[in-house]
Amino acid sequence: MCGRKAEKLKGKEKSQSQGQVPDRQDRFAKAGQNLDPLGRTIDYLRISVTDRCNLRCIYCMPKGSCRCEQEPPLSLEELLEIAGTAADFGISHIKVTGGEPLLREDTPELCRRLKAIPGIQTVTLTTNGLLLQKYLPALKEAGIDGINVSLDTLDPERYRQITGGGSLSQVLASIEAALAEEIPTKINAALLDPEAAEDSLALAALAEKRPIAVRFIEMMPIGCGSRFPGCDNRLILKKLLERWPDLKKEKAALGYGPAVYYTSDRLTGWIGFISAIHGTFCQSCRRLRLSCHGRLTPCLCYGEGIELRPLLRQEGKEALYQAFCEAVKRKPEGHCFSQQEKISEKRMMSQIGG
Ligand code: SAM
Ligand code: SF4
Repeated sequence: MCGRKAEKLKGKEKSQSQGQVPDRQDRFAKAGQNLDPLGRTIDYLRISVTDRCNLRCIYCMPKGSCRCEQEPPLSLEELLEIAGTAADFGISHIKVTGGEPLLREDTPELCRRLKAIPGIQTVTLTTNGLLLQKYLPALKEAGIDGINVSLDTLDPERYRQITGGGSLSQVLASIEAALAEEIPTKINAALLDPEAAEDSLALAALAEKRPIAVRFIEMMPIGCGSRFPGCDNRLILKKLLERWPDLKKEKAALGYGPAVYYTSDRLTGWIGFISAIHGTFCQSCRRLRLSCHGRLTPCLCYGEGIELRPLLRQEGKEALYQAFCEAVKRKPEGHCFSQQEKISEKRMMSQIGG
């Protein structure tokens, strides 16, 4: 697969010739502040902008389980102040997530202003796709580098069941609209159990005629995800190899996350695997997470984090910067999904941001 095509999916980084010199990031990153104790470079921040959602996925926020906090989420200005400090510290890639990030009308504006922060190379969004068509022009205008749409099945009835009432046709229309705008688009599928591997063929086939990456995320035992066994990605790969026997690993990097990508001569796009349970996931982890209420966490598996909201309001920029340094120092070697009693993260995935 040619590198230029892969680059399109990854999203173009800002270059100096575009007149946007990442000066602030360079100043600090050279000091090695964003290297964790294992030598991993931490340059990726997932920012959750809300813990509310317009779907009720049974493995994430099933009906009746909503524990959305009464406290308001960080404001646009607060998010931007934290992101500015993150960029100083060495963060260059930001994923905007939720809950459902497009429930906030200011999400496109946030993306636009994040893009303008010196040092920030890419800003991407993860969404369930229901409101995407409405916000696509604004996101395009904001210069969004990529959009991930969550989609676990192509069966309309199963989609309704999994999501607690979502409309599959709406999501599919959003995906087509994003592709028509030439926005690098990825699909994220989290399968509930081994039987759901049947869904993987139809989902993967979306990449036959479209320049899209269809990625399978192994179910993680976080929040309500622990109620489902999930589907081993090795089983999915075996199934897909029956259909596309020439599937081979893609050499080009297609993003900044832990996915391993495959391609085939019969695919226009790619198949990706995020093997949180059965793969080697943590040694290349480069991310921190910020919740919509301002908790900065070093790892998805552990609830302990640093509360930034009080620092933001009372202490200012230097304290925020030190909080990033501290979070990186505290980054554990890896998750503990195989020893569930050790998982200290008690929030739901919609509160963490995925
Ligand atoms: N609402 C947006 C969406 O659905 O894309 C963004 C937030 S959602 C929490 C982000 C991603 O986390 C989705 O792709 C969802 O499938 C995934 N997710 C939620 N719970 C999960 C779990 N227990 N294990 C693996 N992935 C999970
Ligand atoms: Fe909402 Fe996304 Fe969680 Fe589904 S996975 S309930 S769309 S936050």
